This record gives sequence, C-alpha cells and structure tokens, in this order.
Amino acid sequence: MSRHDNTPESLQKLADNPRILVRREGSPRQDAECVVYWMQRAMRIHENPALDVAIAAANLLGLPIVVFFSVIPNYPNANLRHYHFLQQGLRDVEEDAKERGVAFVLRRHPDNSLEEFLEEVHAAMLIGDENPCREPERWRKVLARRLKLPYWTVDADVVVPSAVFGRDYFLLQHMRPHLKEALPKFLVTTKNSKPQYGWTKPKSLHSESLAHDITAGFKDLDRTIKPVDTFTGGTHAALAHLRDFISHGLKDYVDKRNHPEVKGTSRLSPYLHFGNIGPITIALAVERALAEGHIEQAARDRFLDQVIAWRELSVLFVKYNDNYDNWESAEPWAHKTLVEHGGDQRPFRYSFEQLERAETHDDLWNAAQREMTENGWMHNYMRMYWAKMILEWAPDPARAYEWAVILNDRYELDGRDPNGYAGIAWAIVGKHDRPWFNRPVFGLVRPMSGASTSKKFDAKTYIDQNSGSAKLPF
Ligand SMILES: Cc1cc2nc3c(=O)[nH]c(=O)nc-3n(C[C@H](O)[C@H](O)[C@H](O)COP(=O)(O)OP(=O)(O)OC[C@H]3O[C@@H](n4cnc5c(N)ncnc54)[C@H](O)[C@@H]3O)c2cc1C
Repeated sequence: MSRHDNTPESLQKLADNPRILVRREGSPRQDAECVVYWMQRAMRIHENPALDVAIAAANLLGLPIVVFFSVIPNYPNANLRHYHFLQQGLRDVEEDAKERGVAFVLRRHPDNSLEEFLEEVHAAMLIGDENPCREPERWRKVLARRLKLPYWTVDADVVVPSAVFGRDYFLLQHMRPHLKEALPKFLVTTKNSKPQYGWTKPKSLHSESLAHDITAGFKDLDRTIKPVDTFTGGTHAALAHLRDFISHGLKDYVDKRNHPEVKGTSRLSPYLHFGNIGPITIALAVERALAEGHIEQAARDRFLDQVIAWRELSVLFVKYNDNYDNWESAEPWAHKTLVEHGGDQRPFRYSFEQLERAETHDDLWNAAQREMTENGWMHNYMRMYWAKMILEWAPDPARAYEWAVILNDRYELDGRDPNGYAGIAWAIVGKHDRPWFNRPVFGLVRPMSGASTSKKFDAKTYIDQNSGSAKLPF
C-alpha cells in the first residue's frame, strides 16, 4: 500500500518521491481548470523540481499549469535592497515562463490572497516549494490546514531532499556517508518537461506588471537599506555568473577561495538564496567541467563541498533546530564554555550602532562591515572573522549572536538564509565545529584574531578596496 492512501492512483507514483511532502492529501477538484504552482523560494522556471512536479501533475490530470507569485509587504527582515533584487529576478521568471509555455500570474498586497486565486482559476490542486525557515514553514502549515485541495510541497533548492536525512548532524563528517550514498540518485538532470495543455488567462483576471515598482505603497517597508548595483537579480545573471566562474575562477578555487582581495569564489550565494538558480544546475555544470578536463578533481571536490555538503548541512541545522537564529542553538559544551567565560574582560567593547557604522579600532573588520553594507555581499573568509570579532566585542554571546543575525540579514543579499544562521552559529557558538583550546572570552570555541587573519592574504588591498564608498573592483 502507498504512503498516500487518499491520493488518487494516477498521482500516487508522482507523490512517492522523497522530494515531495504531501501536506494535504485527497483528490484533485473535479471541475477544475488548472494546477497552480505557488512559487515562493524557488524563483526560477528552468531546473526547478517544484515546477516540474506541478507540470507532471497537470499533464496527468489533463490540465494546464499556472505559476502564481504573491508579493507580500512584510517578508520577515526583508528591506528595499532585497525587494529590488527580487523584482529583477521576477522579470526573468516572467520571460522564461513564456518560453516554457507556462502561465505566470503576479499579485501584490493587498490583492494577493492565494486562497482567493485558487478559487478564481478553479485550481485542481496546489504545488509549492520548501523553505526550512520558521515563518515560511508556518505559512505552509497554516495553509495546509485551511485548504480544501490537495497541497504538496517540493524540496526544490537542495540536491538531496532533507527528508532523506531526517535530522541535523553535529559535524559534517557525520553527514558525509549519507550524502555520498544519496548523491547519485538525486544529482541528476531535471526533465524540464513542457506542459501539454495551454492556459488562456481570462480577460478579467488581474496580473501585476513588472514595469512598476512591486513595493509601491508598502508603508512599513524599510527603505533605508538601498539597492546595490554589484549584483543584478535573476536567473539570467545567475547563469552568466556560473559560466564565468566555471571558465575563469573554478580552476583556482582551492588556492584563491580564502583571498578576499581577489575574485576567487563564485558569488552565487544571492542567486541561490533567491532560488534564481538551483544547486543541481551548479553541481552538474561543475561535473561537466571536470569531465571535459577544464578543471582538476580538487577544484571540483572543494567547490561542491561548499555548494552541496556545507549548504545542505546548514539547511538541516535550520530545519531541525528551533533556535537556529539565537545562541540557544549552541551545543551543551559550547553553551557551558561561553557561560564560564561570560565575565572575562573584553579587550574592546562596542555598541550595536558602532558596529553597524563600522566604527571600531580594527581597519580589517571595518572593511568587512563596509563590504557588506555597501555591496550587499561579504567574502566568506571575512564573514568568519567578522562574526568571531562580534563575539569578542559584544557584551555577551547571546547579544553577539543576535547582532550578527540582524546585521547579516539586513545587509547581505544572501541574508535570511540557512547558510547565514549556520555560519553565525559556527563562528559564535562552535556549531558543526569541535572544541578548541581554552581562551579568554571564546572559551573552547575556535578563536580568530586580526593579527593572524591579516597575514593569510593581502589585507591592505582588501582594506583599500573597502575604504569608504569603493565598489567591488570587478
Ligand atoms: C558568519 C557567517 C555568515 C554567513 N552568512 C551567509 C548568508 O547569510 N548567506 C549565505 O548564503 N551564506 C552565508 N555564509 C556562508 C558563506 O560565507 C557564503 O555562502 C559564501 O561566502 C558566499 O559566497 P560565494 O557564493 O562566492 O561562495 P563559494 O565559495 O563560491 O561557494 C558556492 C556556494 O556554496 C555555498 N557555501 C559556501 N560556503 C558555505 C558555508 N560556509 N556554509 C554553507 N554554504 C556555503 C553557498 O551557497 C555559496 O554560494 C556565512 C558564513 C559565515 C561564517
């Protein structure tokens, strides 16, 4: 017997896939006119497993498919910088949807009710995507309780669906054997199948134009954090970034990835965060580059370790830890050691505002903070140092964690992401790391110091690049 007893036989085989979570079982509506894909996290038309499932279900039911995107005014911790990038990405969604023969409807607050839309278009069932963060997951749960239609979500933004692991891991090495076993099954090209039935938009049905600002009239939106011109949102820019990195950067990734003063990494994180590109697309392009002899095995291994292993470890951390955005996510050893060192003399103390304005004695740290506030992106090596110093300078570890989360989510284009919470947890409470040697303030949590960090790369060049209004030099 199948796991989905109440799902009609025609759809059971489709539902029997670890990438799919059947949030509401049942038969599709009888007199229906389409299947709706509610696009949230996976903002792309190509190589999107959620859209593929929606198209497959629609084809099986003999119905067209409609992609629905709803712009809400209060997405948690999002500001103008993020909405601007989002709007750029939606333009590619609209264009690519046409090319794939998929209808696309955009609605904005206050005319953006998904439930009303499902009624309006007489939807047979609803397909969505997944997001492990607290609020988006809560919305999905509430919706599943309220809907009368079958509602499935598809884990579209990871290579291996999180359900395959079903848990978080203390260390990456504990996850590796499970990842290794699962990869051949899930690291495969998606079908990009075409819908068999076209949908004609009823004349009276409203869809917003992307020619206008999608945030117009959103009174409570934080507009103080300005858009950046260092990254352009969308699948087209993401694919261009990927091609450029594979042709020019990937071969030197092992040597250059820890050099914040050069362009040694892919800078794909904003695109991954907004779902403009999926990790399967990236990983398969890397595998092709290896097979064609453009890169060495070591470059492939090191890069995929970040894109797949560290990234998906972060997703599991957020999915299985309610405290992912506060210091209670610490393992007992880290909690204990940080409490024991809570009274240690801090060499410097800064307020949140001083940190935000990059007003510390440390030029390297200030440069990192400015790279983030002005460019919407900070290099990985600097993110580690940046967060470790916040632990050293904040009044206590709880506030260090809180401040790092606020700043990271506010300024990084890729902020508000499982990688961010896991990165901050790694730096401040030693998550996914082992105990180190006992030091003031840090206790057993791995320390970093300005003196040693600045010796590992050309720190002066990095500081010059981020000394005020300088933009990324490429
Ligand atoms: C304190 C701190 C905060 C961070 N905040 C964020 C954040 O808000 N959003 C975010 O996406 N990443 C975050 N990271 C992880 C990492 O720094 C960025 O993903 C990376 O710098 C993005 O640059 P890139 O795309 O050029 O990376 P590449 O080196 O080119 O790596 C490719 C991709 O692999 C993934 N990746 C790389 N490093 C890591 C890592 N350490 N953990 C998990 N995934 C990784 C990312 O998706 C990245 O885009 C943070 C790390 C730390 C230590």
